[in-house]
Amino acid sequence: MTRAHNFNAGPAALPAEVLEKAQKELVDFNNTGMSVMELSHRSQDYEEVHNEAISLVKELLNVPEGYEVLLLQGGASLQFSMIPMNFLKKGKTGNYILTGSWSEKALKEAKAFGESKIGASAKDSNYTYIPEANNIEMSESDAYVHITSNNTIFGTQWQSFDLNTPAPLFADMSSDILSKPIPIERFSLIYAGAQKNLGPSGVTLVIIKKELLEQSEENIPTLLNYNTHAEKNSLYHTPPTFAIYMLNKVLQWVKEKGGAAGMQKRNEEKASILYDVIDNSNGFYRGHAEKDSRSFMNITFNLASEELNQKFLTEAKNAGFVGLNGHRSVGGCRASIYNAVSVESCQALRDFMINFQQNN
Ligand SMILES: *Cc1c(COP(=O)(O)O)cnc(C)c1O
Repeated sequence: MTRAHNFNAGPAALPAEVLEKAQKELVDFNNTGMSVMELSHRSQDYEEVHNEAISLVKELLNVPEGYEVLLLQGGASLQFSMIPMNFLKKGKTGNYILTGSWSEKALKEAKAFGESKIGASAKDSNYTYIPEANNIEMSESDAYVHITSNNTIFGTQWQSFDLNTPAPLFADMSSDILSKPIPIERFSLIYAGAQKNLGPSGVTLVIIKKELLEQSEENIPTLLNYNTHAEKNSLYHTPPTFAIYMLNKVLQWVKEKGGAAGMQKRNEEKASILYDVIDNSNGFYRGHAEKDSRSFMNITFNLASEELNQKFLTEAKNAGFVGLNGHRSVGGCRASIYNAVSVESCQALRDFMINFQQNN
């Protein structure tokens, strides 16, 4: 069996070891004579998988007391709506820091429910940087401050979270969750679709402060109220059992590889392999992000012309590299190197890029 060099932006690579374990258990999970997909979500066998996934999240992300870990559906995109529905009260303003397309989409949903504002934006530069903390407008009347920790499409990433927000800090961490240790206590709400760093699509991780839960709006649809899920351990209705089973397996893999700190070391090594090629190419490869805002998850770059971009992408595809096209809204090239992408895949891409430059 050969595995592709998979640089897909999401859904993305999963660890081969995880897929192989899942394959072994596929038709007979834990001597039940059934696949995990065929179990009742009220059965003990499933509940163990479910509860272990939640406790692994708490352990690996060092989630302090006073937070709930929820496993929801609807992707990160439904969080864009659930946040203002639950927490954007009359007289308060949802404060959005715009660092890319996903933050714009989050803002759009807030506008449907109440007052919103843009505390800072990097749109003027086509999102090449993360705004400086000092330049972010914040006020006592903010309901919350919303950031996107890693900008999947533009390839920028918050390097630290030294924000002194008077209001609770919320973050969309879909594309860098568990890629490094995070100071959870700085946040009141963190959410992430699983399909980049945590597992397959279909499950969304939410880490929410209990204090915040108490302030949530009551007059909203049951399924869109965070309290519904918190009160029932994310088992109010049928959860995406197979996606949660895969999440569990990915979390075990992360634990074996040294946890969040182990991931950070590996991810920094992978990113520097590729950024070094860009930086040493004398302008042949041009990084989209400013150096001090660079993402170590999504590496975005262009070549000198659209023609050369296309030539690069075609030859890369023929050489077995998958998913290097930039997002349709920005074009160019992007290598997404989430947790499960191996160092070897990054080295292979480095060698390909150096060769391509020599031949062009
Ligand atoms: C992929 C992505 C999303 C969208 O996630 P869905 O699960 O498809 O809704 C939102 N925010 C960020 C930062 C992403 O990378």
